[in-house]
Amino acid sequence: MKIGILALQGSFNEHIELLKKLNIETIQIKLPEQLNEIDALIIPGGESTTILQLLEKYKFDLQEFKNSGKPILGTCAGGIILAELGLIDIEIERNAYGPQLYSFIDKIEINFEKGKDNFKGVFIRAPKIINYGENVEVLGKHNNLKTNTSDPVLVKQDNIMVATFHPELTNDTRTHELFIRLVK
Ligand code: GLN
Repeated sequence: MKIGILALQGSFNEHIELLKKLNIETIQIKLPEQLNEIDALIIPGGESTTILQLLEKYKFDLQEFKNSGKPILGTCAGGIILAELGLIDIEIERNAYGPQLYSFIDKIEINFEKGKDNFKGVFIRAPKIINYGENVEVLGKHNNLKTNTSDPVLVKQDNIMVATFHPELTNDTRTHELFIRLVK
């Protein structure tokens, strides 16, 4: 199995390092032709407007990649991009936690295959999933004490997964393992 990490901008190296721990072969994706070489793609966090511009400039066709059945994981800005390209039926609000809380770490709860468990949620100028379609499965939630809401932070629809947090900035490989299960 070979996983491509979109390496146009953002925190792609951290995903590569985490996947190394799982002995997964990775490749930095900088050109659309390289999509043929991989079994799944990760779009990292960064600046979604910049990454989107570069995807357009280099003529990446992620819809075609999705249609071929290959999974895509978007973290933070990567999730914003998947929503904006219409590859997953979610409505996402950029920088939704406001300036006083632009970045924070808090406990989140994820439905791992063995059951629900806590995970360290690293949120950096994070977006919020404010609406999602009926075919979207919520796999992770953040109990937000400020707003007294339980916000979806990890969702999946078919072969597309979106995390509004940064699992690649922890040493915990379990979110990536959930994604890798989609590849098989
Ligand atoms: N705020 C960024 C954006 O809107 C996302 C931040 C991140 O990926 N950590 O693109």
